[in-house]
Amino acid sequence: MPFSQEQQKQMQAQQEQIKQNIKHIKHQILVLSGKGGVGKSSIAVNLAVWLSMQSKKVGLLDVDIHGPSIPKLLNLEGSKLQGREDKIEPIIYNNTLKVMSIGFLIQDENVALIWRGPMKHNVIKQFVSEVSWGDLDYLIVDCPPGTGDEPLSIVQLLEKPDGAVIVTTPQQLAVTDVKKCITFCKQLNLPILGIIENMDGFICPHCNQKTDIFSGDGGKQMAKDFNVPFLGSIPIDSNMVPAADLGKPFIYYNNQSPTAQALNNAFEPLLRSNKQIETNNKENSKMRIAIPLFDGKLSQHFGHCEKFAVIDTDSSNSISNREDLTPPPHEPGVLPKWLGGMGVNVIIAGGMGQRAQQLFAQNGIEVVVGAPAESPENLVAAYLGKTLQSGENLCDH
Ligand code: ADP
Repeated sequence: MPFSQEQQKQMQAQQEQIKQNIKHIKHQILVLSGKGGVGKSSIAVNLAVWLSMQSKKVGLLDVDIHGPSIPKLLNLEGSKLQGREDKIEPIIYNNTLKVMSIGFLIQDENVALIWRGPMKHNVIKQFVSEVSWGDLDYLIVDCPPGTGDEPLSIVQLLEKPDGAVIVTTPQQLAVTDVKKCITFCKQLNLPILGIIENMDGFICPHCNQKTDIFSGDGGKQMAKDFNVPFLGSIPIDSNMVPAADLGKPFIYYNNQSPTAQALNNAFEPLLRSNKQIETNNKENSKMRIAIPLFDGKLSQHFGHCEKFAVIDTDSSNSISNREDLTPPPHEPGVLPKWLGGMGVNVIIAGGMGQRAQQLFAQNGIEVVVGAPAESPENLVAAYLGKTLQSGENLCDH
């Protein structure tokens, strides 16, 4: 049902309120993870504190409605929020960091919160539109694990966040969840600033020898496969848990340790602008892009096209190879397998059904729909140059 004029006006007014409230925040970075317990909140806190240590003005927003851990990690439990005029004042940590969390609103942390999607969206909207963030260099947003309502809300409300940092652990088990995170970002056009692989081996405090606890190269391999920056590996450190339990940010209180150094190295690239990170990323990346063809140009009928142009690009963003291949006979689910099996990581299409888009997303393949009937070379150039105009999903079979 379309929105009434009144509703549309209200929505515009809210959007304007958000815009005004966050217009002095220069950079917004989301911290995501595919699953819980990988150290996402620890990374978010350490990143925010580290940025403050670089003399940046920083805000930390915890949108983990069901399990807010930021108040605990900063020893701010029990802090009371204050309102001023129509704004909510964030809690100030260590005279510098501005912190907001649903945890400050909950009286009894043992009571489970049962909130439906729209309620979560509304409270996150308040965090963005009514908290007086003021002038900030960075707003770090700690999202709950997974790709549910909260990260979706925050991406929609912030309009143009700089991007996401994805936290994972090295073992294979975490990989499927990271893939979902990556496709979530791609579907929302949210740039991926990089992957951090946390809990990568244990460094013995006595002999400095590293022992791998989770075998695998999950994060590193993912970053390579999906052409996203790998920010670094953070070892397991026996001081991290007590630091968290006491609410003493690890990076500040243990700043001489190898783990603090690893965090420092992982965070440093985030100081560069988003554009630079993306450029470096694209420059270092090789891609395999598939385009359905009809008569030498993009075909609008994805599932029934004659051929696919499969194009490889090199690290200088030039086309290094093109092959025109005949797809296997049409059957549901056959194309994602065929294209995924060839290592295709992007599809540029005219129209494509929702189900097929989901299947590609699950295989970690980015899909651009609504592209015009142009030559594959022109489309690839436009995609790499970020000028590809995507229109309507004209044909969805
Ligand atoms: P998540 O937000 O992904 O659920 P947390 O940040 O709450 O994870 O971390 C889960 C637990 O793991 C916490 O007790 C935290 O102190 C601990 N932890 C996180 N990273 C490390 C690390 N590199 N070394 C040791 N313990 C860690």
